[in-house]
Amino acid sequence: MTQYLPEISIVVPGYNEARNLRPLVGRLIPVMEDLGAPFEVVFVDDGSRDETLEILRELNAFDPRICAISFSRNFGKEIAIAAGLDQARGAAVVIMDADLQHPPEVIPQLVEKWRDGYKNIYGERLDRATDPRLRVALTRVFYRIIDHFGDVALPEGAGDFRLLDRQAVDALLQMREKARFNKGLFAWIGFKTIGVPFTVEERAFGVSTFNFTRLARFALDGLMSFSSIPLKMWAYAGILISGFALAMAAWFFVKTMILGVDVPGYASLIVSIAFFSGVQLLSLGVLGEYIARIFAEVKGRPLYLVAERIGGEKAKS
Ligand code: UDP
Ligand code: MG
Repeated sequence: MTQYLPEISIVVPGYNEARNLRPLVGRLIPVMEDLGAPFEVVFVDDGSRDETLEILRELNAFDPRICAISFSRNFGKEIAIAAGLDQARGAAVVIMDADLQHPPEVIPQLVEKWRDGYKNIYGERLDRATDPRLRVALTRVFYRIIDHFGDVALPEGAGDFRLLDRQAVDALLQMREKARFNKGLFAWIGFKTIGVPFTVEERAFGVSTFNFTRLARFALDGLMSFSSIPLKMWAYAGILISGFALAMAAWFFVKTMILGVDVPGYASLIVSIAFFSGVQLLSLGVLGEYIARIFAEVKGRPLYLVAERIGGEKAKS
């Protein structure tokens, strides 16, 4: 039996993308065939509730270069990408969304940069016209914060649409952390990096699953995985507040010496008690968030569970 060894793997995470799969494959396959390199398409069905899995079976029967992993439940896009990378066999791996927001026609440009020697090539979104205004604004604030306080510099406009060299993929495979923030991981690994501009298209069918809470959770994961500032800032806050309290003590001492005891002050007392209880609970909450993440790591559960594999030769989980 001769083994088909792909040079390029396309990893596509998908959650309830049944209607987008055929249009995606219809555009992707011709682009890849034009490129001439042996390729495979690795779909990761992230516990979809629609016909995604059935369609993946049909696609694999029709073209064995298309294979799939199906999760036992929804684990989230970041973990689906990790599973796709586990499965991919290519010397280069392209990651793209299933909803056609990442145009397959850009892949040859990514591959060209790869052939030029780049190892971490990201699609650089030219505009975010397809995203709601509030999301764009909040995203910008988040990136400012990460840029300022995080351990990694995230390139502007970089998303998950990218090509990674095998070396970069192997580096990512070593990182089995549970609270995954891929954008940060991609930046963290380094390697020769370059952006290729592309225009984000409208989602073909369906709606984005990233609602406000999910995005907020995701942002928090990003911040906490790549910065310990939320933990440390309480030390600074503590120093400031204690300094202020000492100054107040001195002031009251002098005032009492000169003017005698002065009883009023109920309002300021209650306000400061309430305020500082709030500060304490907040800092405890931040501690809790980090401990929850430590707890998740310590349990050492697998990143994901596979319910079914369709095609693909690399058997691994
Ligand atoms: N996705 C996934 N698991 C999820 C949510 C999303 O694999 O739990 C996939 C989804 O099918 C799509 C990609 O991640 O291929 C991007 O998701 P979406 O279009 O909902 O997000 P947006 O484009 O708004 O960032
Ligand atoms: Mg989308």
